Amino acid sequence: MDIQEYKGIFIFVQQVDNKIAGVSFELLGKAKELAKDMETEVTAVLLGYNVSGLCNDLARHGADKIIMVDNKALEVYATEPYAHSMYNVIEKYKPAVVLYGATAIGRDLAPRVSARVKTGLTADCTKLEIADDGTKNLRMTRPAFGGNIMATILCPEHRPQMATVRPGVMQKIKPIEGATAPVEKFDLEIGADHQNVQILDVIKKVSNKMDIQDAKILVSGGRGMGCPENFALLKDLADALGGTVSSSRACVDAGWVEKDIQVGQTGKTVRPNLYIACGISGAIQHLAGMEESDVIIAINKDETAPIFEVADYGIVGDVTKILPLFTEEVKKA
Ligand code: FAD
Repeated sequence: MDIQEYKGIFIFVQQVDNKIAGVSFELLGKAKELAKDMETEVTAVLLGYNVSGLCNDLARHGADKIIMVDNKALEVYATEPYAHSMYNVIEKYKPAVVLYGATAIGRDLAPRVSARVKTGLTADCTKLEIADDGTKNLRMTRPAFGGNIMATILCPEHRPQMATVRPGVMQKIKPIEGATAPVEKFDLEIGADHQNVQILDVIKKVSNKMDIQDAKILVSGGRGMGCPENFALLKDLADALGGTVSSSRACVDAGWVEKDIQVGQTGKTVRPNLYIACGISGAIQHLAGMEESDVIIAINKDETAPIFEVADYGIVGDVTKILPLFTEEVKKA
């Protein structure tokens, strides 16, 4: 393999029902930054059916170019036709880097593509940078050994260098109004041999809760809340502030709350304007999901709790006493 032949950074654009996943915009933002160091351009790879209406949004978020495979077989995500399409795009255009969101779809797709193109894959990255040793290799960092160390992984002898990236970690760029990018249609035959699985129906989860990754204010509870009933105190404060409730894994494991509000390494990565950690010790796996929050307030009865090391403001005391007072003051303001 002549790795010099491989150029550019490609982003797999995840779209469902013609709506682009937030992580794809985050990847474009990061790719833009990496592209400067690699002196290359960013290409968004858009797969789907009747998806041309999404191209402008990709350009506004930093895509220099778009490769679009528009095909009925790609209307609903299925592993085989998507893997076949990505494989063909990579074979034709030979990108140096391909990034996917570490979502259910990205985690399903990326390993299959990497096996087909015979390259490596670093899953669940939280940091990407270009090596400054002249090689311009991608340095891909991810938590390892249960989050106790951060491993930096290189793929120096194969191309493309591929990674899945955790949603919520990278930053989108501020959309550039009026930006456009050339769109190249890639006509690909997706035959029956790539459609062995038929999607008969898609049953969507109905939820009226705000996704914690979209919330600007999170009031988060840990084991120190004492019992699931005390989560009502968090809800009161969240309602008063216009935010929503999240949690540490300890409360999910105890069955107090649903997994979809778990923050951390095995939960969601959040970056709100304000994160209020209540009765949360600040284990490394929890911090991995929230330490990029703009402002962190911690309430904990143990003044030596590690959460205070990342907190901008700390309150030492009993959450069950402090939260009602906090809510009362917010309501007065
Ligand atoms: P604890 O560590 O038990 O802390 C409770 C805190 O509450 C203590 O600091 C205590 O001082 C304080 N407290 C007690 N009572 C009160 C009170 N009345 N008032 C005020 N403070 C009080 N964890 C996550 O959160 N997210 C993850 O995604 C995640 N992934 C993991 C992945 C792996 C592979 C592993 C091994 C672990 C993972 N964990 C994760 C678990 C993590 O290591 C911790 O066990 C967990 O975060 C602890 O949750 P906690 O802070 O709520 O509970």
